[in-house]
Amino acid sequence: MAQEEFLLNKLWKIQLQEGYVSDKAIRQLSRQYGRSWVDLEGVISFYHFFSRKPTGRFIIHLNNSILSEFGGFPEVLAAFQESTGTRLNHTDPTGTFTLKAASCIGLSDVEPAALINWRPFINLNPEKVHHLIHQLRSGTDLDDLADRPLSDAYPNTDPDKQLMIKTYQPGTAIGKLPEMTPEEVIREIMEAGLTGLGGAFFPTHLKWQSCRNQPEATKFIVCNADEGEPGTFKDRFLLQKYPGLLLEGMITAAFAVGSREGIIYLRGEYQYLLGKLEKTIGQFREKGWLGRNLLGIPGFDFDIRIALGAGAYICGEETALLESLEGHRGEPRPRVYYPTEKGYLAKPTVVNNVETLCTAARILENGYEPYVNPAAPDSPGTKLMSIAGDCHFPGVYEITWGTTIGELLTRCGAVDPYAIQLSGPSGELLPASWVGRKLGLHDLRCGGSVMVFNRQRDLLQILQNYNRFFLQESCGVCTPCRAGNYMLSVQLRKMERGLASTEDLDKLEEWAKLMEYNSRCGLGQTAPKAIIQAAARFPEVMDQHTRTKNAPFDLDLATSAYDRIINELR
Ligand code: SF4
Repeated sequence: MAQEEFLLNKLWKIQLQEGYVSDKAIRQLSRQYGRSWVDLEGVISFYHFFSRKPTGRFIIHLNNSILSEFGGFPEVLAAFQESTGTRLNHTDPTGTFTLKAASCIGLSDVEPAALINWRPFINLNPEKVHHLIHQLRSGTDLDDLADRPLSDAYPNTDPDKQLMIKTYQPGTAIGKLPEMTPEEVIREIMEAGLTGLGGAFFPTHLKWQSCRNQPEATKFIVCNADEGEPGTFKDRFLLQKYPGLLLEGMITAAFAVGSREGIIYLRGEYQYLLGKLEKTIGQFREKGWLGRNLLGIPGFDFDIRIALGAGAYICGEETALLESLEGHRGEPRPRVYYPTEKGYLAKPTVVNNVETLCTAARILENGYEPYVNPAAPDSPGTKLMSIAGDCHFPGVYEITWGTTIGELLTRCGAVDPYAIQLSGPSGELLPASWVGRKLGLHDLRCGGSVMVFNRQRDLLQILQNYNRFFLQESCGVCTPCRAGNYMLSVQLRKMERGLASTEDLDKLEEWAKLMEYNSRCGLGQTAPKAIIQAAARFPEVMDQHTRTKNAPFDLDLATSAYDRIINELR
């Protein structure tokens, strides 16, 4: 039976060809997919990168993450507005440029950065922007102007533990499969102690075994290539540098669980990597590493397709990703079944992220022994960290678990560090003085994003940026998250204006608890985390922004913002 094209891929074709999704296109999609108009409107409106209104010939998405803000976002935005003659979220009168802001686009080491028609432009400053727009107006080909970002890569300092950032010899990992049974593959992964490296750290062999145990004939291997945590770009590095290794990881997983179909869910922000991925898949097919009886193993049929996301951070959550793959709004599913029981199309599905699958392939290649870590038995192997912010050497680092915060800061050349954000805004905000704390499952967990902030940075500005991110990216399906993030924004604004009291900090904590215990998924549960951690770990900063309880009411201060607005309106 011919496979139906992923709805999102179809929407992308329309968006790229016509610049928007027209009524006519919706009518056609409705007929082709048997979906109602309202249903399709709901899907299109969910994804930031689809538009129902005509857009300019060039769509500019300027990243507004905190690293971009500190790198000069306001000046770069002003330059784009001046050069293109349009404002944020508008198209210029000639229909040439549409200007939008985007949450993290995976280029944190080279901020400020933007995607123009989904090609990357990095290390932007006002001069570069003016020149770029001038060149585009003059007819220079966009592809000739686009940057080709490849992060600096820093292998492990222990040569015996250089397990990921090293030479890749295609076919070495899957070359072992003809001599192994699926059970032996799963055992090898178990002995290595591989856990999900996107941040959940669930044992990979249990996931694979659970999927293998399902009696159904149809099973899927889904690669989550939708890293969207602000500050992370390690999977982008792997996709650029080792696309074949990823495919080998997927083939290994398919062999272990008995799957015939793999899908890479590639974030829309990374579609400039699509060509290389497709080319590598084609090369694998030519070599007999994908297709029927692959690697000469009778009955082992497996192939891989790519589905393109469309700008929704929440789709990094595995059940939201599955909804998106099925052509729905990317709203997380209630946790009734594990994806290994009922995943994509209600069939048993393994969802692993890029780094996990690449590591699985390396384990097959190296054997499990190098992954065993006597210093931290519960944290085996190595981990890739994308480090950015106030440091001399932003890039992708391979570390052994157990590395201390102090060692990490030294390696990346941190400049006067004050605070560190691990695992993005939903992770851990900690003082840089915690130099002795160790990265690992037994101490500080980290999915791979490390942002370094120096003493000149305003912590409140950081928290407000995070809050805007969560407000923007909440799927809105449950009230504690939808309303809670808004309530947090109100409290933070009060702090910014000097109107917050210590009572407001208490309210923040109440909202945080409410969100943590009542939100459906990790986004809502963790959205207030950085604020609460800031209050506990940086009391000196929070004190600056709060007055004590029962402080006398200051009418001038309370009305100052309204005075300003009224003056502007006059
Ligand atoms: Fe959606 Fe937020 Fe609820 Fe998660 S917690 S399901 S992102 S509204």
